[in-house]
Amino acid sequence: MRIAILADIHGNLEALSAVLADAQKRDAADSVWCLGDTVGYGPDPRACIDTLLGTSPVAVAGNHDWAIVGKVSLREFNPYAALACRWTLAQLSPAHIDYLVNLPLQVERGPFTLVHGSPRDPIWEYLVSLTSARACFQHLSTPYCLVGHSHVPFMCREGQGTPEMVELPGNTTIPLGEERLIVNPGSVGQPRDGDPRASYAIYHQEESSLEIRRVSYDLRATQRKMRLAGLPEPLAERLQYGR
Ligand code: ZN
Repeated sequence: MRIAILADIHGNLEALSAVLADAQKRDAADSVWCLGDTVGYGPDPRACIDTLLGTSPVAVAGNHDWAIVGKVSLREFNPYAALACRWTLAQLSPAHIDYLVNLPLQVERGPFTLVHGSPRDPIWEYLVSLTSARACFQHLSTPYCLVGHSHVPFMCREGQGTPEMVELPGNTTIPLGEERLIVNPGSVGQPRDGDPRASYAIYHQEESSLEIRRVSYDLRATQRKMRLAGLPEPLAERLQYGR
């Protein structure tokens, strides 16, 4: 059994399609876990929700998913993100809104906890330091945790010695062993680690490992659609830098 783990799609249909095609080639597209922020920023919120729903995903809520439907405040967002949230809401049907409203904050599947931000604050906490990651292990009842939100693929291992937090550049395989782990598969639709390629992970159940994958996609097409839609230029531009 192989499972595709997707986070922070952010309305980027070209990136989502490329990732699902890659997962398909690797026999990992039949099961999908989604770590939130399917919409917000990108030009194709409806199509991204529909495409994702076509995979019957196990999904949790992200801060953008809930801000768009009014479940959390837009005050925490920068002006570009807030504008994109308002634009996104105007594109959605009642069924799409219902889907976002009803997403759970946290889900457990086998040895994994799935959340968007962190296990102690599923919506807002950015897990970007070892200190916050260490505190989050206390909130876990499973050995492994999958998070999104920072758009940077990383792994934090709670080992015997000093815990470590490392970014995961390019294509990497992480063996799942005794030590507890928090892993971010990176962002499908708006990577921020300097690599503009879409990022996601595959859980290889038999081998007990996680594989981080980077996939090229037609980001110029996404940028064109964003400009046509009148979405803020910096949001389109950042896609080409992966920042
Ligand atoms: Zn996000």
